[in-house]
Amino acid sequence: MSLLVQKFGGTSVADSNKILAAARRAIQAHQRGNQVLVVVSARGHTTDELIALAKEITDKPPAREMDMLLSTGEQVSVALMAMAIESLGVPAISFTGAQIGLVTDSYYTKARIKNISSDRMAQALADGKIVIVAGFQGVDENYNITTLGRGGSDTTAVALAAVLGAGACEIYTDVDGVYTTDPRIVPEAGKIARISYDEMLELASLGAGVMHSRSIEFAKKYGVPIHVRSSFSDAPGTWIVGEDDARRLGVAVTGAALAKDEARITILGVPDRPGVVHSIFHKIAKANLVVDMIVQNVATAGEAEVSFTVAKGDLAETLVAAEAAAKSVGARGVTHDAGVSKVSVIGLGMRTHTGVATAMFRAIADAGINIQMITTSEIKISVLVERGAAVAALRAVHKEFRLEEVHAFPQAEFKPETSTTRAMTLVPLVEVDTNGNGNGNGNGGNHGPREQGMEDLVVAGVELDETQGRITLFDVPDRPGYSARIFAAIAEAGVFVDMIVQNVSEDGKTNLSFTVPREAVARAEAAVRPIAGGQVAIEPSLAKLSVVGVGMRTHTGVATRMFGALAERTININLINTSEIRVNVGTGIDTGQAALDCLRQAFDLKG
Ligand code: ADP
Ligand code: ASP
Ligand code: MG
Repeated sequence: MSLLVQKFGGTSVADSNKILAAARRAIQAHQRGNQVLVVVSARGHTTDELIALAKEITDKPPAREMDMLLSTGEQVSVALMAMAIESLGVPAISFTGAQIGLVTDSYYTKARIKNISSDRMAQALADGKIVIVAGFQGVDENYNITTLGRGGSDTTAVALAAVLGAGACEIYTDVDGVYTTDPRIVPEAGKIARISYDEMLELASLGAGVMHSRSIEFAKKYGVPIHVRSSFSDAPGTWIVGEDDARRLGVAVTGAALAKDEARITILGVPDRPGVVHSIFHKIAKANLVVDMIVQNVATAGEAEVSFTVAKGDLAETLVAAEAAAKSVGARGVTHDAGVSKVSVIGLGMRTHTGVATAMFRAIADAGINIQMITTSEIKISVLVERGAAVAALRAVHKEFRLEEVHAFPQAEFKPETSTTRAMTLVPLVEVDTNGNGNGNGNGGNHGPREQGMEDLVVAGVELDETQGRITLFDVPDRPGYSARIFAAIAEAGVFVDMIVQNVSEDGKTNLSFTVPREAVARAEAAVRPIAGGQVAIEPSLAKLSVVGVGMRTHTGVATRMFGALAERTININLINTSEIRVNVGTGIDTGQAALDCLRQAFDLKG
């Protein structure tokens, strides 16, 4: 008998009728012969209301009490859902996070799951009951109630699917799938039939609120197919699956996302020597702040500028850490801008299609919008723009890539039974239940590692690429259209651009660096020189080191550990590029092999 996990979000359980409708869905799946486990969120706007209530009492509610408060929302939902299912004649039982032994660390309001004991759920399922679990909550080792962060019920659902070896995890919500961008902002957005874990990880972490990004980390690690669909219709939704199941030929860009409330911090006059970046980000990681775009431009006169973004809400705390970091490395100062947003495009197809950057920059320039900062990774390009222009930039980009025509590229229907979606091979998969609980779900429940925290960082590998060279344009004018022209010239020369880094300008001018295949460096240089304006520098070859895995960004320590390992070997970093699935740095070509070795050591990987 196969196990199905169904998760109902807040709007899907907002009132008694909706709870009954959700109960019927669970019962239908049960009647089709599945074991059914239901995860529910707090009803409607309950969580927001509880937060507002706390704020009425105090500006700074203790985090522990916040979690005590917020977890009540989900507890109400599970009880009502169990009553609804029972009232429709099927046995059901509800559990809180604590009751299923969902143990987390003690970071209140953003706790990570360490482990889950499946016994009690498995027993109830084997008894023929529909099991209902409260999403978003757990307990730490001292039985303090914790929550997983806003939107965390998705993560509970996928984690349970992983631990119990479910065939699939259905996410019922108020949209009928994952769209090319948030349909509330761009009504022309189209529904994507299938999307890969990596694309969804990037989309979710770049602002698409439809899935909690940590839930996709679980799905990828443990190979859980996710079906995002509407609570209010039977239309097929979007499958989030492994790459082979998701690939769409001929499509470069799969989706676009907007992270509206970002803040940019720049450390000025950072001395260009090994170890400096490490000490900066070490201080910030210690404050447990998630740093987003990290951009370091090529140093001029022995000084570089390092910029990064954080969620606007984290700005005050980040500034304190950044100022201290700047002082300790002897940098000139810190500037910030709280009025920026990040617009990104993502797509597996970017690995092979040229011209995506050009088209994106062109579309934004044509809308008269200035690009303040650029970072790229293999499957995404992010730009920072002024907040007031962000929606216009998103629309322009969406239109440029004709994302509303997503239906023009139909994909065959996905079936979990025939899927090639598998757990990541490099994850240590340890038996979850050694006591043979007989839950008979056919998968043996062997998806969850026990010894380590389930959400621990997973690094799949370290890579060295010595095939590229770098071009830097100095004193790039800070006005719309410049980068579009540069990359158009390069695309015309038929050169594939890999990493692009542009830092924010401090005095109306900045530097723009990008990497291209070594053999194309001269051609690319010739193409841009006539339009570059300022000085052009080339580095005929460089070493690109990448740490690859899942959750690279949500685990604040990855970049720090990487920078730290390189600093210890006095290897200088001259280009940084981060994403949800990898952190890339550029170093001198002669240090590539040494860098690779020390990174393997730092991340406990065998050579
Ligand atoms: P739930 O309460 O069910 O968890 P959420 O509000 O967390 O629902 O997520 C659903 C919402 O996510 C949608 O209503 C939509 O506005 C938003 N959203 C953002 N980006 C996307 C996207 N790319 N595709 C679909 N929905 C998106
Ligand atoms: N109720 C929580 C929230 O609103 C968790 C969730 O809905 O996923 O963030
Ligand atoms: Mg949600």
